[in-house]
Amino acid sequence: MKNVGRIFILSAPSGTGKSSLIKSFLKKEQFLEVKMSISYTTRLIRPGERHGIDYYFISKKKFKLMIKKKKFLEYAKVFNNYYGTPLIHTQSILFKGQDILLDIDWQGARQIKKIFLNAKSIFLLPPSKDELFNRLKKRNQDDQEVIFHRMKKFIKETSHYLEYDYLIINDNFNDAISHLKTIICSYRLSTSYQSMKYKKLIQNLLCRD
Ligand code: 5GP
Repeated sequence: MKNVGRIFILSAPSGTGKSSLIKSFLKKEQFLEVKMSISYTTRLIRPGERHGIDYYFISKKKFKLMIKKKKFLEYAKVFNNYYGTPLIHTQSILFKGQDILLDIDWQGARQIKKIFLNAKSIFLLPPSKDELFNRLKKRNQDDQEVIFHRMKKFIKETSHYLEYDYLIINDNFNDAISHLKTIICSYRLSTSYQSMKYKKLIQNLLCRD
């Protein structure tokens, strides 16, 4: 059987610092060669974001057409906008044997876990509610109404934390990166992962010649 990559899911309520964490993680831990999926979304582009880098920003009409054509591995409606993980891109990464990190919400995580039973999911939490509010305010990318809406959604989203395999509290940024690395590395050392990777070696070691 071909060595297929693994899926790691990272979910967090808005303003938890997930995007910064992912960016730094990918930069700092390049040697781990974890790939990211770029989602499609119908939400408006924020200052500093780039089409094709942060998201593919598309209309609701186009998104619905993509749903119809089964172009998504999973998709969900989050804050009145649609978000979806492209199927082809994800498949091509996995079939190359590379691991992929999905930055998706709990609805998407549930869908992925149903399809990929060995996917590992991680939930990120802020160190406090005050800190979360400050981060949302500092980000200054959304209007007040959206910030309060997201604060209200915080409890609802966080209530899903038990559905995840791992929990990281984003108090100290470097610690959070290191925890993420530990999760990925420990998974890569698991017997199921290693026995696939070192199949030939193990066969050879067990061979009675
Ligand atoms: P934001 O608009 O702040 O970039 O993202 C809002 C939420 O949508 C975040 O929780 C993020 O993880 C989630 N999200 C981003 N891309 C996807 C996706 O492809 N699928 C799902 N289910 N959620 C996504």
